[in-house]
Amino acid sequence: MRTSRTHQPLTYDVRLPDEAQADALRLLDASRSVVNGALAILWPYLDEFGSERAGPAWKQVGKFMGSPQYHGDRQWRCESEVVGRILRQQAERKKAFEVIQPILSDGFIRKSTEERPVGKNRPAIKEAITTLQKSLEEDETSFVALQNVSEQSCNYFFQHDRFPATYEELQPLPLLKVGLLTYAGDDGGAKGQAYRLALDLDAGVARFRFRYPDETGVWRWRKVDTLIPLPDCVKERPTRTEELMAPTLREERRADGARFAVLDFIIEVEKTDLPGWESVERVLGADWGVHSLLTATAVDEHSQQVGRPFFLNTGGFDGRQARTRRQIDELKKKVARYEEQRKALSSDDPKRAWFKQKLTVFRREIDRCWRKYEQRNRALAHLASNVLLLLCQVHGCSLLSMESLKTLKTTGRGSGVRGRWRNYRNNSTIRGEIWRLLRYKCHLLGLRFHTEQPRGTSHTCPQCGQPAKTYRSPSDRKEAVKWGRWMYCDTCHYNGDRDYCASVNIARLGVAYLTQMKHTGKARSCSISDPRVKPVTYTGAGAALLLPPTGSHARPIRSGKICYYPGWFGSAFLQSSQEKSVFLRLCG
Ligand SMILES: [Zn+2]
Repeated sequence: MRTSRTHQPLTYDVRLPDEAQADALRLLDASRSVVNGALAILWPYLDEFGSERAGPAWKQVGKFMGSPQYHGDRQWRCESEVVGRILRQQAERKKAFEVIQPILSDGFIRKSTEERPVGKNRPAIKEAITTLQKSLEEDETSFVALQNVSEQSCNYFFQHDRFPATYEELQPLPLLKVGLLTYAGDDGGAKGQAYRLALDLDAGVARFRFRYPDETGVWRWRKVDTLIPLPDCVKERPTRTEELMAPTLREERRADGARFAVLDFIIEVEKTDLPGWESVERVLGADWGVHSLLTATAVDEHSQQVGRPFFLNTGGFDGRQARTRRQIDELKKKVARYEEQRKALSSDDPKRAWFKQKLTVFRREIDRCWRKYEQRNRALAHLASNVLLLLCQVHGCSLLSMESLKTLKTTGRGSGVRGRWRNYRNNSTIRGEIWRLLRYKCHLLGLRFHTEQPRGTSHTCPQCGQPAKTYRSPSDRKEAVKWGRWMYCDTCHYNGDRDYCASVNIARLGVAYLTQMKHTGKARSCSISDPRVKPVTYTGAGAALLLPPTGSHARPIRSGKICYYPGWFGSAFLQSSQEKSVFLRLCG
């Protein structure tokens, strides 16, 4: 996909209408077989795809081979584009594997205990990678890649009782399990030789036509355009046909075996110019909380806090997700039991049909639960990222200073060890999603986005900058607790909610970064103990209710130093005086 400084791609997926499904699925089956054939041939040349990345991937594949089953030049280009992209991605993972291979050790494996089966020692993995990364370029994605490959290596260990010696040993040939065909290798929506795509905004549809193999295997064009209703967000934006990028056709498969074709169509939208550093005056610091999902505080360039902190608490949400997971567990148990019982029957037993029918129903239900679960996660990620962007606009912040994704804190919520662990895993999924959304939405809106290393931010006093300890609660300061929710500074006696203090500290790091950019045009991220990171004062000036409460109680509840706005707990929605077009883009 083309990436550019001025434009940003947005993807929408639409299920193809029923009349086109059979042909599209046949096309996807045919291209999957070609893609997998080519992958098998090129797998021994994986390294070649890591060293050279210039130009489209299909050209690189073309240097090695022609189509294994010829059915049109552009069709093969599109298929080889898929092959090339997979190989380039795998080659990157192989590089990541070669970086972590020397540090793979038994310390990464956590022995089984009564409470938990054998698993990965994530803190040890994280620490090893962080240490390793200090010798490499600072890069968020590479950390994720390193962690991902480390985890895969641990999975290999569980099966083979040793770590893999080579990447090829770790990673089996990455064959496509379901059909996937990008049209990026073709000549565009108007002149394409494998597909055509045009927008008809008056009718609110996209017109899509494609080449496919018929039942007898003869390749032909579809005789009529397939009309795809446009999603509302596309209709609202005055999209031009020129902004349409090559779409991707792919197959989705449900657990019960049902399959259908989906078209991802991709629209290229213009990014808003980023503000010059000299015009940035305020920074919003956001911290992944221990108790709330996110905490955000605005600070101006003179280290003065602006407005009240904002907490996004997801207690009710976590509970609902946990319930859905339990429901899935129950269903899985039922499926396993029924499969056992069916196995015990003789092959001509009439009861087999009954079991088959029941199993189909259960699998469909599991599928439905997973979809609900993932939809909720996505919705929350969108909500959280929108809240942060609105806060930026409310407070006039043009720099969003975000705690890096490298920390994953346990929230200590949920029922039992297993529940907490899952909640923790799910939160890290949501954080990744929020982080990605923020990065691209900031580009759309013209906000600067910068990540900060969180080391020490929860244990440093934002008022005087000295190290500080955390305690279980404001009244219980007998014993310092690493994960305690109340921070108390022995030096200046300042105290406050730990997540709030951390968000102010992240904002302080952002201000230090901003100041360097303003004065030298060059900046390195500071550590929290750096003298360039200035203490913050808070006079309460400019404090205003940021977003209206959505619950039935109009009055905020006070508890210690924190204000809770009722209605933002279980379910939350956004209200904004933003222009409709801005809001729709935010809701993406
Ligand atoms: Zn202090």
